[in-house]
Amino acid sequence: MAYIQIKTYPDPILRKACEPIESITGETVILCNNMVETMRLAQGAGLAANQVGVSSRVAVLDPRTKKESKPIILINPVIVEQDSEEISEEGCLSLPRFYEYIKRAKKVLVRGINIDGEPFEMECEGFLARAIQHELDHLNGLLLIDRLSPVKKDLFKKKYMKDRK
Ligand SMILES: [Zn+2]
Repeated sequence: MAYIQIKTYPDPILRKACEPIESITGETVILCNNMVETMRLAQGAGLAANQVGVSSRVAVLDPRTKKESKPIILINPVIVEQDSEEISEEGCLSLPRFYEYIKRAKKVLVRGINIDGEPFEMECEGFLARAIQHELDHLNGLLLIDRLSPVKKDLFKKKYMKDRK
């Protein structure tokens, strides 16, 4: 496994919708393993492939519960159902030191395929449901700043770009 440098805003790859995985190859497995390693070293809750420079619909999540510490690998994930809403604070490895309260569905049902190419379905809520929605946004070329009001997004751009200088 290897750590991969995480792309940060405003890298254009973060703004491009990722392509579906047609078939799982050795390369896909290596990518997933490297993404899990990178997510853990960066202490993130999740990571999407375009954050490490690969425009494919692959995301990894760290469930962060006492019962479950195995990473979740989602290939071609789609949210098929969602329910209720809640507002909670979110951050992103591609937006260092930026946190904001974002409204998301409280519960989601997600479908995709796992690393063995088998259909995968998962129902979850709270922290994990939020992480899945965040990673799916990435796969669609969206960032959490796109969930802000236009005024807040504008403020973010000014401040963030100034802080980078
Ligand atoms: Zn993110």
